[in-house]
Amino acid sequence: MNQRMLSIIIVGARGRMGTALIREVMDSEDMTLGACVDRSGGPGIGQDAGRLAGGPEIGVLVTDDLKPRRGSVVVDFSLPNATEARIRACVEQGIPLIIGTTGLSEEDDKLLVEAGESIPIVYAANFSVGVTLLLQLAGEAAAALGPDWEAELFELHHRFKRDSPSGTALRIGKAVADASGRKFSEVAMTDRASLRRAREKQEIGVVALRGGDSPGEHTLMFLGEGERIELTHRAGDRAIFARGALRAARWAATQPPGLYDMFDVLGLRE
Ligand code: NAD
Repeated sequence: MNQRMLSIIIVGARGRMGTALIREVMDSEDMTLGACVDRSGGPGIGQDAGRLAGGPEIGVLVTDDLKPRRGSVVVDFSLPNATEARIRACVEQGIPLIIGTTGLSEEDDKLLVEAGESIPIVYAANFSVGVTLLLQLAGEAAAALGPDWEAELFELHHRFKRDSPSGTALRIGKAVADASGRKFSEVAMTDRASLRRAREKQEIGVVALRGGDSPGEHTLMFLGEGERIELTHRAGDRAIFARGALRAARWAATQPPGLYDMFDVLGLRE
């Protein structure tokens, strides 16, 4: 192995995504586990990261203290409660940051834009390559089909997911709205139960289902007169998100400051 190993710091290490990330880093030939961080006072603190991920001990203990070191990339899949502190810690040290945590606040979004002026940040509600392509196709289809076709989407996730609708569903809805000259926040329809009226033309309906163990399924429908198009992505294993996030980490390690997403990482930006 003659190339330099990239040191990865995982935040949210004890979680479903954190442990998937640990496994991917351990299996890789060009990355090493720099540190693993989880919630202060949580059951993960002090545990060996390898064991947490279902493998042998590796001598990296989970800590509650994020001290990003130069030459590392921080990969955060946790909860939004301390996103601000994590962004600030990376900015202070000039460390690239990959954020997969969903359900961020508007203040967090603003902070991301600000932080992108001094460090490379890749933020994506979904790090899967397939979903990134689905986002692209959603926009292209909406633009090509025009206003006569109504767009509706549904998503299904495992019973533990906290935010609803998923960040990915919101991104897909936004891609459709942007491509057809609408503002998603003005046309998104997430609750029809209380409305006693027919569908309005501009609406983009979003339905969220929860249950079982699915890492994520999204279907976008374009409904026309007498015909319908469905674009579906099904995630079979959350390792796809971990692999995408680590691909983003490798990429971000050599980028100038900026706020990026998976379109940039995959070279799909026009
Ligand atoms: P999880 O509940 O299994 O794990 C979250 C982990 O974060 C837990 O170990 C928890 O203790 C830890 N945590 C909570 N607060 C923390 C803090 N302040 N500092 C450090 N660690 C903290 O959740 P999960 O299924 O692994 O998902 C984590 C996040 O990633 C969610 O927001 C989820 O929606 C998102 N996610 C994103 C993608 C994507 O591709 N962007 C894919 C899957 C999940």
